[in-house]
Amino acid sequence: MTQAKTALIIGASRGLGLGLVQQLHADGWQVTASVRSQAGVEALQALPGVKIEQLDINDGAQVSALQQRLQGQVFDLLFINAGVSGPAHQSVEQATIEEIGQLFFTNAIAPIRLAQRFAPQVKSASGVLAFMSSVLGSVAIPEGNNMALYKASKAALNSMTNSFVCELEDSGLTVLSLHPGWVKTDMGGEGAPLDVQTSCKGLVEQINKQAGQGGHRFIDYQGTSIPW
Ligand code: NAP
Repeated sequence: MTQAKTALIIGASRGLGLGLVQQLHADGWQVTASVRSQAGVEALQALPGVKIEQLDINDGAQVSALQQRLQGQVFDLLFINAGVSGPAHQSVEQATIEEIGQLFFTNAIAPIRLAQRFAPQVKSASGVLAFMSSVLGSVAIPEGNNMALYKASKAALNSMTNSFVCELEDSGLTVLSLHPGWVKTDMGGEGAPLDVQTSCKGLVEQINKQAGQGGHRFIDYQGTSIPW
């Protein structure tokens, strides 16, 4: 009997993070899922065998505590999904230092800090470290200007990920910057064309396909390459 694959999913209380846990669980993976608060645990508790951890990705002490608790565990997949859309106005004119700090720290700094801490706990030759990016993070695609602040935060995430990958040298790890499609979630809204299940099924398919290939790619849930 082959051993179940293992995943650590960061930001799994709802939306795409929860969808990823549900998909991996259905596929027989052994999943550890983090939530920021108790508000997010019920749906995860309904999945037998899923281990639930608490983590606000912006809290350095909580990151250290999680690292302690997971010491010695090695994962096939680390998926850093948590993210925020920033202030509803999305306006450079109106933006405050607090709003920009919160947005860029959550979307671009905290994910890289987590990746730096947990990369040694992802299988180097066959493992995947995935970041939830967005097509809006592409500076080559002039779409989404009504989400200008969010768009810039995901471009910053992509840039930080490129720098992070350079530091990995020849570890063999596969790093993915993933676009889930435009998905019906609290963030994506009711008008989005895709449901969580379709997106997450596609994302997991891409992870399975890319595992073992090494390098860093920016692709969507169907495997289509996105220009940086
Ligand atoms: P969502 O429903 O708003 O869920 C966001 C998730 O991130 C929640 O689980 C939330 O936890 C978590 N989170 C936010 N800040 C956190 C923090 N400081 N620490 C820990 N967890 C935190 O949004 P979604 O649509 O599922 O988005 C998930 C990811 O996909 C995000 O990175 C988003 O930018 C990206 N994305 C989404 C779409 C789309 O169309 N939906 C498209 C492209 C990219 P709480 O429940 O505690 O708030």
